[in-house]
Amino acid sequence: MRLMKYLILVKKMTEKISSWNIGKVKVTRIVEVERTGPMFVVPDAIPENIIKMPWLKPYFADEEGNTIVSVHALVIETSEKCIIVDTCLGNDKERHIPAWNNLQTKFLEDLERAGYKTTDIDIVLCTHLHTDHVGWNTVLINDKWEPTFKKADYLFGKDEWNYTEKQIKIPAYAEFINDSIIPIIESGLVKFVEVDEKICEEVKLEPTIGHTPGHVSIKIESEGKKASITGDFLHHPCQMEKLDWISSADWNPELAKETRKKKLLEYANEEILVFGTHFATPSAGFVRKKDDHFIFEVQHPLEKR
Ligand SMILES: [Zn+2]
Repeated sequence: MRLMKYLILVKKMTEKISSWNIGKVKVTRIVEVERTGPMFVVPDAIPENIIKMPWLKPYFADEEGNTIVSVHALVIETSEKCIIVDTCLGNDKERHIPAWNNLQTKFLEDLERAGYKTTDIDIVLCTHLHTDHVGWNTVLINDKWEPTFKKADYLFGKDEWNYTEKQIKIPAYAEFINDSIIPIIESGLVKFVEVDEKICEEVKLEPTIGHTPGHVSIKIESEGKKASITGDFLHHPCQMEKLDWISSADWNPELAKETRKKKLLEYANEEILVFGTHFATPSAGFVRKKDDHFIFEVQHPLEKR
């Protein structure tokens, strides 16, 4: 019995880190939090609707129709750069959402176990400036928020920051702007970038506006292979079947819907390995067209550690 419990624990631990290759580029996923339960951000994704989409099981929904979602970072390793995309929630942060308040996870240990010390990271990329994408930008040291990745350039979207800084009077924005963005700007590590910025030979930003005004996805291309990291223009694979299901966090729901449809068609037409920023394990796969909608065919990692 004890051995069984140990094996389950080991399995859970190993799934926290997984890698894929796109040509010569390696993408590694490091999970901060994964959970099963209501997904408030997509109001239509309730069990009685989800249960009618059996293809979501077992990875993205359970037998009862509960959605499974994840908060994770993706490290892109190219021959030139080591890039971390979206820095999750972070530790010690006071948040109004109880499940995200004052977290104490082992994210940085897991990052190191995946082979990356914080000083190995050259670039921090945030697909957009929301609380669950900027958290590990900073760590609390002697009651002060310090940059976690001291040798990195933090790339924030110009349009995204212009919009976000105007929201500071809203407490839900102020809480993460103050502890996860302002300290980085003050440290001088930020570079403001365009929505279509080229980051290095294999990695480029592409605008996917709608969830936020400066939202970007990340395009990876190497040796003829292609991949994309979605960001939050899509929260859960159920939105591939239900293209009209909006996210309550969308800045412009109509534009977000348009972006979603356009990108899903592009993903289905080209052989693009898609990494969903909140898709549960294994998180990656190919979008396939089916009748008037899309479904997701998961792609398991090459290595598990
Ligand atoms: Zn998010």
